[in-house]
Order: sequence, then C-alpha cells, then structure tokens
Amino acid sequence: MKIHLVRSEEVATSHFGAIADVILKFRGPVEFVVREEDVTENGIADVVDIDLKTLSWDTLFGFCEDYRTKRHIPKDELVCLMTDHSNERNWFSSWDPSGKLNFFIQTSAWENFVEADPVYPVIYELATLPFFTLTCENLSDVLSKTHSSPKGCPFDMCQNKYDALLRLRTGDICLEHRDLFEIKDVPPAITKQIYKILDHVRNQILFRGRSRIIKELSPLIISYKTLRFPGFLDSSVILNPKQMTVFRFFLANVEGVPFRHMTRPRHIQKLTELYRNYSDSDESTVINRVNRIINLREGHQIENHNVELSQIINKINNKISDCVPTGLLEHYQITGDIGEPRLIKLDRNLITML
Ligand SMILES: [Zn+2]
Repeated sequence: MKIHLVRSEEVATSHFGAIADVILKFRGPVEFVVREEDVTENGIADVVDIDLKTLSWDTLFGFCEDYRTKRHIPKDELVCLMTDHSNERNWFSSWDPSGKLNFFIQTSAWENFVEADPVYPVIYELATLPFFTLTCENLSDVLSKTHSSPKGCPFDMCQNKYDALLRLRTGDICLEHRDLFEIKDVPPAITKQIYKILDHVRNQILFRGRSRIIKELSPLIISYKTLRFPGFLDSSVILNPKQMTVFRFFLANVEGVPFRHMTRPRHIQKLTELYRNYSDSDESTVINRVNRIINLREGHQIENHNVELSQIINKINNKISDCVPTGLLEHYQITGDIGEPRLIKLDRNLITML
C-alpha cells in the first residue's frame, strides 16, 4: 500500500519535513511517499505568508485529484493532502466522500486541543489511514462504525476535539475494531507497522506530559502548621495538629504505609514524636490521641478500614485541593487504594521544612 503525502504550499517545509522524518522511519508494507521538494529547505515555503482560510471539501479533494492525475498515481494508491487551512466541516482529517482514495489532514491548530508537539497528532492521523481503507468501503461506512463517545480508538468521532488527546495517549484500538481487522483480513504486517507508529506517538505524548508536569510542580514549604505552595499563586493551607502529624508521617515514609501497618511500634513511635510538636498535652494524652488516629484501642486490633485515619486524610486532601491545580493534586495529596500503601508522591527534593 502506498500513501503519497502532499504538502499544501502554506505548510512550512520544516513542519512537513518533521512529520516526514518520523513517518519514514517506520518501514513495512505501508510505504509513505514524500516528494523531495516538499522537505528540502528551499527558502520559499517558510517565507510565504498565506492567509489561512476555510476551504470546501471539494477544493481539498479536487487538489488531491489534480495531483493524482498530474503524477499518474494509480487509483489504488492513497493521496493525502497536508494543509494548514481549515475546512467547511471543521474536521481534522477526512476521506473523500466520493470514495476515491483521497484524504486531507489538517496540519495546523492542533496545539489548541492537544498538549503535544503538533507533528504527532498529524502522524497519528496519517498512520491510521490504512485501517480505514482496509476495513471500510467509504467515508459513510467509516462514520457508521465510529464511536460517538470516545474510547481512545482511531474510530473515535472526536466531535469534541479535546477527545483527540485520549486516542494519542492510548495508542490502541478497541476490541470491537480489532475484531473488525480480523474479519476484514487486514494483513498482520500492516497492523504491526501501524501499531509501532502509534506506540511511538503515544510514548512521545506521555514523555512530553511528564516533563511538563515536572516543570509545573510547585515546591512545598512546611512551616509549623502551614503548607505553602509558592508555585501556585503562593497559596497556603493550615492543618490542625492531628492533620499535620498524619501529613508529616506520610512525608517521612516515602514508600508509603498501608493502614494495617499503622500499629507497628516504629510507626506509633514516629506519630507520637510528631504529635508532641503540636500539642502541650501530657504524655498520656498524646499517646491516647495517637492511638485514636491509628484506631488502636484496648484489645482491638486494627483492620483494613480505619475510619478515623480516613477522615483525617480526607480533610487534609480537601484542604490541599483548594490550593493545587486539579491535574497535579495526586503529587501532593495522600493517595493509595484500600489495602495498598498510602503515600505522598511528591519528589522530596521539592520539600523544604522550616
Ligand atoms: Zn474502536
């Protein structure tokens, strides 16, 4: 299968070249064909300043068909126009509704919807073209098979363009459509080649996501009963003695502690030591309070569920959620499932104790 990539004149050769560089690395039964003049820096494309327009689908697919005719490209090979212009239906890509193997992919505006180097969403669209042509008769057939709610599959409709990120992050195909590949006898070598490209896209997206998060995390400054997050509008949280004790306990235990281990002597000792910093009470009161935190009563062994400790953790987490952006909360809150270690994920290098 051959897919001819065509750079529309408004697309910078540098952008088109970056897309070509990645896609050409993945060799296999799907052959991506790129014209030399579209990727060489000829000094023209990058300085041409063309106003971006909204083009009709007729114009876009007409362009593909002209190209096909001029270059004598056989009917069974795909022609894919890469354009920065938007289009009448505001889609990121489409197959020619006439059924000819003509396609367009929008190479611009992805940065508004997907946090990624804008070459990767384009590569994703490009890589999945063979799946559509090998499993569907035409565009209306594709549309009849699309998911209206996103599943992280190439067949997601992505009416909400933000959903496009989910597909990039999963880099996968849903079970229903994998079955379709079998029914339609999609050659395994093609599936393998496309999966490799999707994996690459996925890794690039996740890598970028991670490095962005590291840059966005705020240091945490702890001074007596206050947690400060100077990176987030210098917001702060005040915790009561029990909450502060519990928070600092989990900070001290980097690997985390499951509830059922809370009654171990060294943990009790650490909690008592921490609690003393926040209480003027006598020794027996301190011990009593710590025992209540870990649910240790006379002759009563701790179980997996610890209501008192759960409530303290919920209160701490709620307070933190007032100061920390939602997407970054898991780094600062005490997290972990029932039976699993509860922990604070934050890189300890970001913490300062005053
Ligand atoms: Zn699917």
